[in-house]
Amino acid sequence: MRALRSVAVHVAGFFEAHSDSIASRAALALSKLGLAMRNRAWAFAGERGLTPTQGQVLVLLRTRGVPLRLGQVAEELAISAPTASDSVRALVDKGLVSKTRARDDARAVALELTSAGRQEAERALSWQDFLLSGIEALAPAEQEAFLALLLKILGALVERGQVPMQRTCLLCRYFRASDSANAVYHCSRLDAPLSRRHLRVDCPDHAPVRDDAVRRPIAAF
Ligand code: SF4
Repeated sequence: MRALRSVAVHVAGFFEAHSDSIASRAALALSKLGLAMRNRAWAFAGERGLTPTQGQVLVLLRTRGVPLRLGQVAEELAISAPTASDSVRALVDKGLVSKTRARDDARAVALELTSAGRQEAERALSWQDFLLSGIEALAPAEQEAFLALLLKILGALVERGQVPMQRTCLLCRYFRASDSANAVYHCSRLDAPLSRRHLRVDCPDHAPVRDDAVRRPIAAF
């Protein structure tokens, strides 16, 4: 019995001394998922004669559902203006995107999907379906916790200026922590309670929290 205990202590000590930090290993795991996503996107995009960035532009226009200006496309996808311009030009040439007047300024040009573009955007949305099967392998409570943690990480990166503003609850000026001890929150825009399982990732009603207040909802979460 004594011999067994000493082996167990030795093994535990080994990994304590020979492990990268938890944060490093979690970042590595996320980067592997990112790599898998990128490979998947290249494979699917190649089949459709698109680049992954062109696919992302289609998905963005599809999920927003309103015409966007070129600058908004670049900002949302965190790509340079020339890259966005090249991608949009190619999509216009393929008949997947057309130019229209911006809703808020008749002199400005905005981009919208053609009907062929909407169909292609639906296909591009399915590029990420392979991730679903992995996430759905988690228990419901694990999925809820995973979503919350991802949004918290995203919020921290936005706070540091490393990721553009995202339309998530944690970065929304309408998000209120009514009882954070019990994970009960409130959306003052829709005047409805929401719990962790209802947190939105890309909400059409979102209004960005002020720069000086980004930290508050994340800290309260
Ligand atoms: S408006 Fe949308 S993003 Fe903002 S708190 Fe309500 S549900 Fe969340």
